[in-house]
Amino acid sequence: QLSNSLAAADLATSLHPYTDARALEETGPIIIARGEGIHVWDTAGNKYIEGLAGLWSVAVGFGETRLADAAHKQMSQLPYYHIFAAKAHEPSIRLAEKLVEITPEPLTRVFYTNSGSEANDTVVKLVWYMNNALGRPEKKKFLARNKGYHGITIASGSLTGLPNNHRDFDLPAIPVVHLTCPHFYRFGQEGETEAEFTARLLAELEAVIEREGAETIAAFIGEPLMGAGGVMVPPEGYWPGVEAICRKHDILLVSDEVINGFGRTGGRFGCETYGFTPDIMTVSKQITSSYMPLAAVLFTEEIYDAIADNSHKIGTFGHGYTASGHPVATAVALENLAILEERDLMGAANRLGPRLQEGLRQYADHPLVGEVRGAGLIAGIELVADKATRAPFAPIGRVGAQAAIFGHAEGLIFRAIGDTLALCPPLIVTEADIDQIVEKMGRALDRTAEWLAA
Ligand code: PLP
Repeated sequence: QLSNSLAAADLATSLHPYTDARALEETGPIIIARGEGIHVWDTAGNKYIEGLAGLWSVAVGFGETRLADAAHKQMSQLPYYHIFAAKAHEPSIRLAEKLVEITPEPLTRVFYTNSGSEANDTVVKLVWYMNNALGRPEKKKFLARNKGYHGITIASGSLTGLPNNHRDFDLPAIPVVHLTCPHFYRFGQEGETEAEFTARLLAELEAVIEREGAETIAAFIGEPLMGAGGVMVPPEGYWPGVEAICRKHDILLVSDEVINGFGRTGGRFGCETYGFTPDIMTVSKQITSSYMPLAAVLFTEEIYDAIADNSHKIGTFGHGYTASGHPVATAVALENLAILEERDLMGAANRLGPRLQEGLRQYADHPLVGEVRGAGLIAGIELVADKATRAPFAPIGRVGAQAAIFGHAEGLIFRAIGDTLALCPPLIVTEADIDQIVEKMGRALDRTAEWLAA
């Protein structure tokens, strides 16, 4: 009853992000009512394993009372204050200290936003402001990758390299060049080895810099392991190669760690897993396990100095949000990071990742599966119409969406990105949980195959 009336109210009032609205009118939403550990329950009483940790983010799982207590305590003491105009408060200061401590050494400064999109917008403005301050206003362009995901605001959506984020919104609206997606299975050429693929991508980067002129290029931005574009693992040697080229041409390197950050891929940050040191890093999601909205940009002292000098002489860095560094959000982040450290959850991907990756790889021979990929506790299974030619299904996404429905029926929530089935479970998963996820995924694959054959 509750379920039906809520669903009706939702259909009457809402527009959902990333949802086929007309299809939703037919099926109605799944309304999630509560969560505990790795599980959530809907209003009809169905129990699911949250195989994507919400949106790649609920690291400590659902129902962690320590985070609720931290929020309550902070709300009682100082529910809100800002950090504009020379004000500050303790939780945002303590969190900045913590972030500087756990991220790679050159990153010494923190700027807070509410979302990953805003963090990447902030990167654009930070870098533009800096280059204007340094008297090189022409150094504005960003390099990004096809299928990269950096958010959906006008600037971050421009950096994103996915067609549906551009086509319908007249983006990109900032100068950005998108390079080949570093996904060997899809973009490697006939007869090419992985090493040759890496070399080709690095040569492309050099050629683009040559064509555009290094003096016009501000920064290169990428996710160490690409998440929302379809869980794509970079080829061996790619990131150190990108880093060397950026250094040679005085191009800043930005690591978007909104999904990778805080232990998802094995290292504490994806840049550690894949062997490079960024000048700027963006983090969000697992920073609070998404119990509160929060994101941050970390950057070097050199960038800070250029901005600080200019802000003193010419004009302050005119950028910031009402809720930048929100005390409740930063207090929750601090408690969340304490939990990650106490339980060594940033080491979970190293301990348990192999079980997930090997478990899922048993489906590599499944008739629908083109590639099983991933690292640590993030994985993707790409479904194809033809295993030999790797031909995708047409239209892309129909089979993936159906697989997700079978997943729900099996009690497992995962995300279908086109026809790639993405898994990114909470970092608190146990070996037994992983075995269940793998088993349920197998049944969802079999049911999808039967449905296709019918
Ligand atoms: N960057 C990456 C790598 C992401 O995965 C996302 C969201 O999934 C974003 C940025 C945007 O973050 P938000 O949705 O908080 O704006």
